[in-house]
Amino acid sequence: MKVMREGFETLVKTVDLQAPVQLELTLAIAKQQVTVSVPGKSLAFANSDPLYRQLREIGLGQTFRFDNHTLTSDTATFQFQKGTLTILNPVGGVITGAVFIGEGHFNLKAVTVLDGRELTRRTGAAEVNEDFTEVVFRFTKDAWSKFHPGVGEQMGTPGEAAAAFNHWRERMRQRRERAFGFTQFLLEGETMDNVDADLTAALYNPLHPEFFNAYLRGTKHKNLRFFVRARVGALPQLDSPEEVALINNDPEGMDDGIWYLAHLKSEYLDHTASSSEDRRLFATHRYKIETVISKNQHLFSTATITFEPLLSGERVLKFGLLPNLRVTRVMDENGQELFFIQESRKEDGSFYAILPKAPEAKQEHSITVEYAGDKVLEQAGEGSFYVSARTSWYPNLNGFGERALYDLTFKVPHKYKVIAVGKLQGESVEQDFAVAHWVTPSPVAVAGFNYGDYKRIDLPDEKTGYKISGYYLTELPDSLRHYSVLQSMAPGSMTKYALEQTRAQLQVCTFFFGKSTYDDIYITEQPNFNFGQSWPNLVYLPISAYIDSTQRWMLFGHIDNKFTGFVQEVTPHEVAHQWWGHAVGWASYHDQWLSEGFAEFSAGLFLQQAMRNRKDYVEFWERLRQRILEKNNFGVAPDDAGPLWMGLRLISPRTESAYQNVTYAKGAYVLQMLRSIMYSDDGDKAFIAMMHDFVESHRERSASTESFKAIAEKHMTKSMDLGNNRLDWFFNQWVYGTEVPRYHFEYQVSPADGGKVKLHMAITQSEVDEHFAMLVPVFADFGNGMVRLGQVGIWGNATRNVDTLLPSQPKKVALNAYKEILER
Ligand SMILES: [Zn+2]
Repeated sequence: MKVMREGFETLVKTVDLQAPVQLELTLAIAKQQVTVSVPGKSLAFANSDPLYRQLREIGLGQTFRFDNHTLTSDTATFQFQKGTLTILNPVGGVITGAVFIGEGHFNLKAVTVLDGRELTRRTGAAEVNEDFTEVVFRFTKDAWSKFHPGVGEQMGTPGEAAAAFNHWRERMRQRRERAFGFTQFLLEGETMDNVDADLTAALYNPLHPEFFNAYLRGTKHKNLRFFVRARVGALPQLDSPEEVALINNDPEGMDDGIWYLAHLKSEYLDHTASSSEDRRLFATHRYKIETVISKNQHLFSTATITFEPLLSGERVLKFGLLPNLRVTRVMDENGQELFFIQESRKEDGSFYAILPKAPEAKQEHSITVEYAGDKVLEQAGEGSFYVSARTSWYPNLNGFGERALYDLTFKVPHKYKVIAVGKLQGESVEQDFAVAHWVTPSPVAVAGFNYGDYKRIDLPDEKTGYKISGYYLTELPDSLRHYSVLQSMAPGSMTKYALEQTRAQLQVCTFFFGKSTYDDIYITEQPNFNFGQSWPNLVYLPISAYIDSTQRWMLFGHIDNKFTGFVQEVTPHEVAHQWWGHAVGWASYHDQWLSEGFAEFSAGLFLQQAMRNRKDYVEFWERLRQRILEKNNFGVAPDDAGPLWMGLRLISPRTESAYQNVTYAKGAYVLQMLRSIMYSDDGDKAFIAMMHDFVESHRERSASTESFKAIAEKHMTKSMDLGNNRLDWFFNQWVYGTEVPRYHFEYQVSPADGGKVKLHMAITQSEVDEHFAMLVPVFADFGNGMVRLGQVGIWGNATRNVDTLLPSQPKKVALNAYKEILER
């Protein structure tokens, strides 16, 4: 394609270092002063809301005989055959829980086909049947009415009921510092739900979304949890749009994991189930956060959060905040202190703020939170730090689920710098501290920052208009000090290499996807060797991204393919997140491939378009193919774990790396395959139009798999239409399915009239079902590398014979020469 060539030829030209280097910032000094409030000495408002106290200290009440009763909750049934039910003491006249001891049976049937398959993968059957001996129920609203008809005569409370309840309470409150296994990490990781706080929210608001939680001790599985949580979702830690979950928490067992996660049965029946359901109770409009980082990396912060209630009557705000950051005071707009909940950092230490009365709907309100603590930053060496609490360093109301404006002020020891999301408004010095003020011009999903002894290099890009700044560390982190090769490298020129790659990728992405949302891009080095991350206009690159292949060879003395792949991909991948993840967000865990898979695809695009390296490009797709199809020690390949659409749920004890390899690698392949089947005489024209439309129609919003599919259908070419103007076939195969075809290719060439050459091809597709359809690209090499001849459509397990004329004798004809179609 002519346009592309002209556009990218000069991409990797070296930069004149003289002009743009700028080691010191020269921005205007900030006018505003940072005030740090001393943490309040009185903690009278912590964990002392009277209703919360009653729930926290709730005890067992009356016990009744409870035989032959069936309770239905969404798609699950509890059959209580014989036993006792002990209710928890009512709080404010409401019963919020009960303990069953005896014999019972639990059944859950999956509503959708995909959830049925997932249950079968996890448990061996499409429905769950488990006998139980103990169940602790916690619920809101009138869930008690489901138990009430089964209640028999009053009895003495059995000792097992008290033991079961105490054991449950202990498990709900004890957070393990080091959670192992995905399920445990999900339930007890960085923050842990405080059930008593959740119940407080429900009791304070009669309109609060219902929940019904059951904690079962089964005869086979000792720690099963069944949740139905309307609106807010069954697993908020996963940002799940689904309301119903069944989890087997058994960190050492082989069937540990999320067995079931689905929408309410009624939503499927009404066709209203959607990944884009709003799970928020409050919309956050603005965060204003002032943070002081002391010499020992201790944080002292004041955050003012401005929000609007989305549900009337709601009084409890639930935040994501690292439990090591201890809240000392919460205040309303008038400086009035508010009750708040934050148990010990070793317990269910999630942070909740309680408003004295329900705030008026459709109006802005704000609260201010003071907090302090450690574990946000870890020292990695002289002047270099890891930001370990990357999203929980401030009280975050809705995680990645919404966009808000951020006004961030950092006050840090003067030799260090903070680089944050947004634009730098000003810098000043106060005694021994450097003060920097950052503001996001438009709402973003998350605020991050990087911190250390940074020097800066600027690399403006006249072609695209982006202002690229590189921040590098002057000293190596302790973990890399012993590499003498690294000692001799000038950090400035290492940065130049990373910035040139960034600039090239910004040009490639702008051409293929349109403008990103942010004009300033800060590329920051961080001490980690194999971890990168992208924030709105801020990128963390690992140190390894700052060394080229020669230096890598000097460093390791050999070429490690996996590591080479990582280093090749990390900068273009992270830069592409400015589009995938930030300009366009993702609606739920189902749709994360639209961020990670698309960013990975973009790394491949970079190798093809900016580096113009066919070998690296083919190796890139081959590496991804292997990541998807390579069997692990259990004989299971990531692709066997389940469809791309299942996202994080692909992680199981037998498929620990399935999420990573499917979401990134197969996600990239899906987009590449769309590109391949859209390719025509106009080259990538249809694909580029689709991607521009996708970005524009979803700019600063979240995309779902289904909303992306709608855009793809709008731009599909004639050959992609199998008759109904939809891409159901493509998405069912590649996004909601797991089949991967195998191809066999044979060809013969023979002379034809007029000096032309007749090509006969036989293409066989196998290992798929009869409905599987694919358009497979064919290439020929006439002496100048493989060029695309066209594509051949094949249905099911079949052989397709195709004859065509070629202008001259090819050196070679091949199917899928650049590995752009996923095949076995
Ligand atoms: Zn990524």
